[in-house]
Formats: sequence, structure tokens, C-alpha cells
Amino acid sequence: MPAIFSGIQPTGTKHLGNYIGAIRQYVEGQDRGDPAIYCIVDSHAITVAYDPAELRRSVHDLAALLLACGLEPDRCILFRQSDVPAHTELTWLLSSVTAVGELNRMHQFRDKSAAQRELVSAGLLFYPVLMAADVLVYRAHEVPVGEDQREHLELMRDVARRFNSRFGAEVLVVPGQRTPEVGARIMDLQAPDRKMSTTGGTAEGTVLVLDDPAVIEKKIKRAVTDTDDPPRIERSPGKPGVSNLIEILAVARGTTPEEAVASLAGARGYGDLKAATAAAVIEMLAPVRERYTALRADEAGLERVMAEGAEKARALAAPTLADVRAVMGFGPAHPAPPG
Ligand code: ATP
Ligand code: MG
Repeated sequence: MPAIFSGIQPTGTKHLGNYIGAIRQYVEGQDRGDPAIYCIVDSHAITVAYDPAELRRSVHDLAALLLACGLEPDRCILFRQSDVPAHTELTWLLSSVTAVGELNRMHQFRDKSAAQRELVSAGLLFYPVLMAADVLVYRAHEVPVGEDQREHLELMRDVARRFNSRFGAEVLVVPGQRTPEVGARIMDLQAPDRKMSTTGGTAEGTVLVLDDPAVIEKKIKRAVTDTDDPPRIERSPGKPGVSNLIEILAVARGTTPEEAVASLAGARGYGDLKAATAAAVIEMLAPVRERYTALRADEAGLERVMAEGAEKARALAAPTLADVRAVMGFGPAHPAPPG
């Protein structure tokens, strides 16, 4: 069974893209992962302007949301990144095999640094190194993420390979990306050429997991489609808005996109596609909304879950760091060098 790791940012409110591209896979990963490790990456959240009190609240918001979505503390390890200092320590050690030029070329760095008004923090540039450390410190085999993380995953794999070849030992595991076949890149409903996003998306085009049903319906019914006359309900590159709705509908119903299209054979237009999609999304998210309020109210309970998770995570991270330190020449000579 693979070791699975993924991190998710406690910024803003999570949206349908996060749910479909990432969270849904986390839930499923609990059956396959040994272990399945999920991390609320508060250390990543300080790379852009933020408010400390809001960050602390957002960690609780997200912990409650993840539990409401179906993560179960006895089937996975759920914790707060900053509770496990091994992540930041390994970040520094990995910096020795990370090229600045590569960090500079990352699309996320380019986009997010251009959006900063006051300060482009060094942390924003270093974000992918911390992300590499997050995964590599657990020797994870599999990283469930959305399509937008492909570049960071590639960098992480390069860093792991370079580390192993530089220090002559198979200390780090080169992880693989796991993106869903359908829904790896949910697009903004108002701007279907861009991914649905916490930062930089349109408010009207972003369905939040906790939006109430009337709001979800309104946002989906106003989704930008196209002006084909007669309307054609089909997935194709020239029809990003329609393709996006078909994918969302398929995922929400648990069918294939082909089945979703077939089910609309008698539709009169995009209105029927939107109505079906809205209904399916509302139904998919209803149980999450129902469970969320009680979970969020119990902050002590959330802290307990995260503290237990952090303890397990620290125990898993320690041997990797010990091996990394040993091969890098730190500490007294290692009696039996690993690898
Ligand atoms: P930001 O825009 O600030 O980067 P985000 O919306 O991308 O925020 P993250 O916490 O960075 O949110 O992403 C959490 C997970 O959700 C990641 O695995 C990411 O790949 C996935 N994800 C984000 N947006 C989408 C999307 N539109 N479609 C599918 N998956 C997505
Ligand atoms: Mg992101």
C-alpha cells in the first residue's frame, strides 16, 4: 500500500475545485494509503500578506471542513504543518540541491508575485521547496493534487533525484502525482479559461463548498457557456464553459462525462445542463454543510485531532530527517550509513 501525502492551504474558504480536485481524493485515499497523511499547510499561508488571527481561525475552519468532507482521524493522519518542525528543517537541507533558476520559473511564483502590492516575500519563491519537504519527509509514494500542481510535483521529483544522486544514497522516495481523471482542473464559472481559485478567481464564478444551496444554484445558472446556435452539450476544447459544467456534473453524480452528456440528450439548451449540474452539486455538498457547523463549534476537539495527528507525523518524519542529516555530514559519524 502506498504512503499518501497531501497538503492544503488554510486560506479563504475552500471551493468546488479544491473539493473535486483534491479533497475527494483525500477521502478515497484513506482506503488505500498506508498511511494517508493530510496536512493543513499554515506555513505555506504566510508567503503572501495575511492576518495572524485570521490564519488561526482558518486552520480551524479547514480542519472542520475536511472532517465534514469525510476524513476520519482513525483512518488518516490530519495535522497542522507548523506543529511538525521537520518540514521547515528539511526545507533548508533541500535548498542545497534546489536551483534558484527553477524556482524563478514556476508559474505559481510568477502569477502570485505579480499580484503582490507591497512585498514579494522570499517565502513565495521558496514555496515549492517547502512543498517538496512536506512530501519527501514522509517518503510518500503518492501525492493527490489538482492539475495546477504538476510543475511543483516535477520540481519535487527533481529535488529528490538530485539529493539521492548528490549524496549517494536512496534516502528520499521520488513521489508520483495523482490527479483525478475527471475534474483535475475545475474552471472559474465566469472565466472558464482560468482555474477556479481561492486567490485571483471571480467571486461569482467560484462555488464555495459551504455556499448555501440558493447561492450554488445562482452561480451555476449564471455560468458562462458559449453562443453556439443551436447549443451543443459536448466536451471540446473550443467549449471550455460547457466542458467544465459537464465535468462537474459527472463528478457530482459519480458517473462518466459521457454518461452525463447522454443523460441530457433531450435537453433544450444549456439551461438544462446548468439546472442538472446545480442540483447534483447541491446534493453532493449537502452532507458536508450538515456536518460542518457542529464540527467547527468544537475547537477543543479540532485541536485534539490535530495534536494527535502531529504526534504521529513527527514520529514518521524523524527517521527520514535522521538519514538526511547523516548522509549530508551532520552530527557524529553514523555507525551504519543508510542506503
Ligand atoms: P490559491 O489560488 O491561493 O493557490 P487554491 O484554490 O489553489 O488557492 P490550494 O489550497 O492551493 O487552493 O489547493 C488545494 C488543492 O486543491 C491542491 O491540490 C490543488 O491542486 C487543488 N485545486 C486548486 N484549485 C483547483 C481547481 N480549480 N480544480 C481542481 N483542483 C484544484
Ligand atoms: Mg493553489
